[in-house]
Amino acid sequence: MDIAELCRRVLELGATGASPISLLGVEPDPQFRDLCALNYCGRYAKSWTCPPGCGTLEECARRLKAYRQAVVVQLIHPLEDSLDVEGMTEGQKAFDRLMQRIQKAVKEARPDALLLGAGSCSLCQACTYPDEPCRYPELAIPSVESFGLDVQALTEKAGLPCSWSGPRVYYCGLICLRGEQEDG
Ligand code: SF4
Repeated sequence: MDIAELCRRVLELGATGASPISLLGVEPDPQFRDLCALNYCGRYAKSWTCPPGCGTLEECARRLKAYRQAVVVQLIHPLEDSLDVEGMTEGQKAFDRLMQRIQKAVKEARPDALLLGAGSCSLCQACTYPDEPCRYPELAIPSVESFGLDVQALTEKAGLPCSWSGPRVYYCGLICLRGEQEDG
């Protein structure tokens, strides 16, 4: 599956946007990772997919360095208004389900792909962190933010909508690929 086919597949699976980018110059930045530590989402140090359980920023940077290209995955979810917390929760669940469908499709074709999602892994009712190993390390998807990446910059680089305005919420994920497949 080449990168164009992958984008088409991601759209078929329910994303509202999918666009390829080069990962050249995309570097983890401590300022985004530091936002996790402010714990607005309440998941800091509560999951294997969030800091510090997902590894240090340096470890995340080393993992990312093995990849040359990525598909930016976007889901724009409508809200009733900017205070629609229920709609935001629904949107987050819809994005998590989308990334799991994408993971299943991608891992068959590109088993070494690295997927990054939005927010903390929600596969288990209660995460085993930090007492026991992750139950599903092959399925758990760390967040773009936990790798210190700038969601807005990635979205702009991909040419996807990023006005962050209106009654809607934007979710962003990444499918990182080592390089284009020779055989397409
Ligand atoms: S799969 Fe389960 S144990 Fe692993 S990070 Fe997700 S919630 Fe935690």
